[in-house]
This record gives sequence, structure tokens and C-alpha cells, in this order.
Amino acid sequence: MLKHNLGYPRIGRRRELKKACEAYWANPIDPNQLFYVGKKIRKENWKIQKKYGLDLIPCNDFSFYDHVLDMSLLLGVIPEYYHSISTYDNDTPTPPNHIDVYFAMARGFQKKGWDIKAMEMTKWFNTNYHYIVPEFDKNQKFSISSNKIFEEFEEAKFILKSIPKPVLIGPISYLFLGKGKDNFDKMDLIENIVPIYIQIINQLKEKGANWIQLDEPVLVFDFLSKKEIEAFQYAYQKMSQCCSEINILLTSYFDGVSENVSVIKNYSIIKALHVDLVEDPEQLESLLNLLGDTKIILSLGIIDGRNIWKNNYVNSIKKIERTIEVLGEERVMIAPSCSLIHVPIDIEDEHLILSSVKERMAFAKQKISELQDLENIIKGKKDLLYDKKKEKDFFQDKKVKERVILAKNKDFKRISSFERRQKKQHKKFHLPIFPTTTIGSFPQTKEIRTLRNKFKKKELSQEEYEKRIEKFIIDVIKKQEEIGLDVLVHGEFERNDMVEFFSEKLKGFLSTENGWVQSYGSRCVKPPVIYGDVIRDKDMTIKHVCFAQSKTKKLMKGMLTGPVTILQWSFVRDDQPLFTTAYQIAWAIRDEVKSLENSGIRIIQIDEPAIREGLPLKKKNWKFYLDWAVKAFRISSSVVKDETQIHTHMCYSEFNDILPHIASLDADVLTIETSRSKMELLKAFSEFSYPNEIGPGVYDIHSPRIPTVKEIFDLIKKASNNLPIRNIWVNPDCGLKTRKWNEVIKSLKNMTEAAKMAREKLLINPTNNLKKS
Ligand code: GLN
Ligand code: ZN
Repeated sequence: MLKHNLGYPRIGRRRELKKACEAYWANPIDPNQLFYVGKKIRKENWKIQKKYGLDLIPCNDFSFYDHVLDMSLLLGVIPEYYHSISTYDNDTPTPPNHIDVYFAMARGFQKKGWDIKAMEMTKWFNTNYHYIVPEFDKNQKFSISSNKIFEEFEEAKFILKSIPKPVLIGPISYLFLGKGKDNFDKMDLIENIVPIYIQIINQLKEKGANWIQLDEPVLVFDFLSKKEIEAFQYAYQKMSQCCSEINILLTSYFDGVSENVSVIKNYSIIKALHVDLVEDPEQLESLLNLLGDTKIILSLGIIDGRNIWKNNYVNSIKKIERTIEVLGEERVMIAPSCSLIHVPIDIEDEHLILSSVKERMAFAKQKISELQDLENIIKGKKDLLYDKKKEKDFFQDKKVKERVILAKNKDFKRISSFERRQKKQHKKFHLPIFPTTTIGSFPQTKEIRTLRNKFKKKELSQEEYEKRIEKFIIDVIKKQEEIGLDVLVHGEFERNDMVEFFSEKLKGFLSTENGWVQSYGSRCVKPPVIYGDVIRDKDMTIKHVCFAQSKTKKLMKGMLTGPVTILQWSFVRDDQPLFTTAYQIAWAIRDEVKSLENSGIRIIQIDEPAIREGLPLKKKNWKFYLDWAVKAFRISSSVVKDETQIHTHMCYSEFNDILPHIASLDADVLTIETSRSKMELLKAFSEFSYPNEIGPGVYDIHSPRIPTVKEIFDLIKKASNNLPIRNIWVNPDCGLKTRKWNEVIKSLKNMTEAAKMAREKLLINPTNNLKKS
């Protein structure tokens, strides 16, 4: 029974990678310092995994930005316009696989007169990790264009003194996750891409590899097309024929794989299949059935790679024993359910967590050691102890439970229809057409972070802290007024993170000190832990928002995070259904919404950037999820009067499949991310006749690049060709907290300028679909 791991967190125990990347971006002279930090992190990771006795230790799971982008470099999928960057500086000509080209693809490139956009970025399955979307030409050529995987293999071999297991994204998942530039079926590229995989595999074999992990997470989808299945068959058939003797460990994760097992089991190159038994424990029996008459090893993903609770050894041992019984010991592997990049690194770095809760938690390092425990239990070297009492330790509140159970229909519905509300709101607000606003946060400078940290460490009195925050608020209001925005925000300076902030105010949540998880590139988040019933026993945002409103005549938008997002971006208790926890949070947010309204705030934004990513990977489970997610949002938002305008914000662009549900959130205004996908999304909204107001993000805040007036104007124009003008808002595509002030001011000025231009030019154009309300 081999123990292995699909991937280890790569940000470093002290977020060293983030710091090193950001230092390099600020001053990109010599990447060697950055490379050195990467090397150190890899070494530490390998040593820990070795210490806990893993039999197969991954390599190439490290990445400076994103492992999908690494794949694109490996396979030579580098769009033409990035090639030119390799010559941007005549003194130091760089090859196209240079780190600067890599980062340009990830973040855009604006230097020395160059102006190149970043590639599109989107969420990795149903997680909060973001990957850089590969971009294919119709005649895309592939060729090995990076040595990273080979170098890391040698490096790991040297450090481990044993043979590591290189990790790659498999050809079907890689093509599936990418995007065709022209209209063609990406799967048509399969014949071009497979030879490169064969070369890579054979080269790794030559260097001594015996196991290679090919991640094919798309195998958990229940909607793969015939063409995709055929592409899979073609690829694995070809690889079985053309690769030297090698063991491929094919991995699936984030859901069950039963639907596609019959396709997987016929290829000699696939020696082991990894499945996620945390997300789908039921699949085990059918897999044992289907694999019984093959030689395939079953890798049991039994340790939860996405949550932070200790493993339930009793359950795991049952599964392992059952598998051994059917397949025999030599055909069993054990592992975490998925890569551990989705959990923090080490619970030993936490000193403030209640010990009764902490002793039930396990981060990446502990999860690896759990594998060792499980093996020792199976071998009879360790007793199977499981403390039942601990399960009941979740903090309970009777009142909250009752509120959830006794909810009535009217609690989920606004008083009047959208049309009626819109009329009332327009009459009251007197906003121009194409009203401009932002998504909430403004740059989180070093100064503001230091201020919050000092306050946290009690080096500042509450009073002093509040005074300083108020100064930031006054300043951001002035800036917004100067820029000419129509609906203002208070800037969210008091918030470290949109979920962590609320979790610190609500009962039932706890925060970690060092529980960082990579979100995209150098951006990390620290998800809170929901360990009990959720209670709001005090105002959370009222003071700052009301202060802000008192400083301006313009409308001030109150800013909240929605229940589904709070749930999705937390580590959630595992003793009750997710929806019960979501409803509890929803009631807490609802009380805050009411309190904002009572304090005179007339526009309230409830951010739900995570609704889409929570969508189950199997279509058959969508409806159930969307029903409760929408209901949770509506519990939190339906408490207000018609005249109070509810905004919501979502930052991703794959709405097409869920538009009816997005509409049934019934937010008065929806702001969304569209700019990286160049507003393709609008067509879908227009075809669906999305009924409410909408602010398609007109510039990409994930990149430091400053959009031009013309560019934004063109996007507004595109929007007004697709949507009724009275419904269109103009805003960036997400919060501005990761940007620098000089970028933000310039970009927003261009944005308000473009809105002005649109008011002049688009209104007199008789062909647009202006309908006066
Ligand atoms: N209001 C939040 C902000 O502006 C929204 C962030 C998000 O959508 N991820 O930062
Ligand atoms: Zn956003």
C-alpha cells in the first residue's frame, strides 16, 4: 500500500513566494533571488513529505504563479504577442520561456512603451484558486518549451535521494481548460498535443521516473461530450503505444468519477487511478466492481484536501480494508483527496485557536502525517483511537437554529417587482444614465496595512485607530468626488479581507494567524473556520459606512459579503449540511442589511463572487445547490424597502449556464467581471433578456495595466448594443484593493471620462436601444 500526495502548498510557510514575487515585480533586475526562494520552498516541502514517510513525493507541483500557466510554457502555448517581450530590452535579450514572458502572460506588461494585456484568468473547478486560461490558435502547434519539469525532477531526486513523482495536467484536462481563439473545437488539437506528452513522458522516463501523475480532473464531469471522450481514448491509446514502460497515475478529484470509469480502465499505460472519496464516498463500491477484473491500482483520496478537520480514522480504515479485501494490498494507494494547495501549511503555526477546536484540525503537514497513521493502523502498529466526543463539540445556539427552520416565504421576497422598484429608485436617486461606481475596496497601501496590524497587536487604542481609519475614508471620498464617480464607497480600509472581516465579527467563526492559501499568483487568502452556529450580536459595518455617508452629498454604498461567499471561502464545519450553515449566515447578513437601511443607507451591495465557483461539478447536482444558494442570498437581501437598492457583485465570467438563477437573485444591480473576456458574456445576458440593472466590468483590475478612454468607451458601446441603456452601470470588474493608487486614479478617471463620452455619443445615436423608464 503506497502513500502519496498530489501536490503540496507552494507559497511557503511564511508566504515567502508572495514576497519574493512581489519584490521581483517591483524591481525586475535579477530573477536569481526569486529562483533561490523557489528552491528553498521546494526543498522544505520535499523534506517534510519525506519525513512523514510518503512513498511517492510529487515534483513539478511547485509554481511561481500558476501550474496551468507552467503547462502552457512546457507545451509551448505562448500566444504570439508575448514573444515580442523577449526582445523588449536590447541589453538583455531573453528567450520566450523567460520568467518575464511568463509573468507578462500572467499579469500583462506595461513597460518602456510596451502595452500587452494579461491572459484571461478563471477559477479552478469549484475552488477559489485561479488559473491562467491557455489560449489556442486553430492551428496551434505544440513543442517542449520549458525545462522546468525536468529540472525539478533532477532537483527533487537529489534532495530526496529517491525517485520523485512528476505531476502534469493531462492532455484532455489541459485542452478542456483552455480557450480557442477562433471558433473551433479544442479537442481537434488532440493529435497535435499528444506527441508532445509522449516526448515529455519518455524524457522523464529516461531521467529515471517510474511514476508520473497525470491530472485529469475533467473526468469528474457528467457532461463530457462524445468528442471529449473520444479525445481521451485517442490520447491514452496513443500514449499506451508510444511511451516506454512507465506507470501513469491518473488522478481525478473534486467529485466522483464513476460515470467515466468504463472509459478509463482500458489503457495499459494507466497503472493507477486516483479518486476523491471525500467528495464522493459512495463511488467506492462501484469502482471496486468496475476495476475488479483489471490490474489497475486504486488510489483512495481519503484525507480531505480542501478542509481543515482531522481525518476520521474509523471511516478511512473501513474504506482501506474494504479495498484491500477486493483488490489485494498491492493494488491500494492512499492519499489526500486532491492537491493540498487548497489548505494552509501547518497547524503548529497557530497559537490563538481554542485548544478544543485546534486539536480537531489538520493542515497540509498534518494531513501527510495522517497517511502515516493510517498505514500504521492497517499494519497493526498503532491503535485505532477516535474520539467520538470531539464531534459534538461544535458550538450550538438554539435561537439561530429556530430562525432557519421557521423561515417563511415572505422572508425570501422583495416587496414589489423589479420594475416598480426601479421606478422608485430612479425617481429618488437622480443618477445620470451610465452611472459610475466601484466595487468597494480601494488600494490597501502599506500604510493602511501597518495601521491595522498595529491595532491588532494592541499598539494603538481603539480611538486612535478609528480616527486614522476615518481619515482614510475622508480622503477616499475626496478622491472619488474628484474623479467624478456617481455612487461612492467608503473604501473598505478597515477590512483585511472581505470574508475574514465578517468572520471576526460573527460568533461561530474563528480566524487563523498563518492559515494562508493561494488564490491567484501572489495573492493569498486566509479562510476563517466555521466551527459552530453563526450569530450576529452586534453591528458590523454601520459605523464606517454611516460616517462615510455623512461626509458626502453623493450616495454612499454600504458594502457586505453575501452568505454563499462567506461559506464558500471558509473552512466549514462538517457536522451539518452546507445549506444549513449558509442559511445561518444569511440571517446574520439580513440583520446587518436592515440595520444599514435603518441608518439611512440607500444602496447596499451584497457581494457574492463565489456563487458560481460553488456550483457542483456534476450537472445533476446543480439545481439542488442553486436553489439553496439563491435562497440564502434572498434571505439576506429581501428585508429592505422598494426604495433601497440592492447591488450584488460577482467576479467571473461563466454565467451562461446559470443565468436564470442569477436573475432570480433579484438584485437591483449586478456588477460582473467581463473585461478580460472582452464582454463576450454580454451576448448571453442580452439573449436571456436579463431583466435587472447590470454593470459589466469595463476594466481588468487583476492587471496593473491602465485602460484607455477609447477602450472603455468601446466596451460601454458594446454593452449598450446588447442591453437597455437605462440598465447599464459603468464600473471596474472587481475591487481595487490589490492595485496602486496611481494606477487606480488614472484608470478611474479614464472610466468616468468614457462614461461621459457615452452619455454624449450613445444617447444621440438613434440605432441604440434606448428605452426610457
Ligand atoms: N467589495 C469587495 C472589494 O471591492 C469585492 C471583492 C470581490 O469581489 N472579490 O474588494
Ligand atoms: Zn470581484
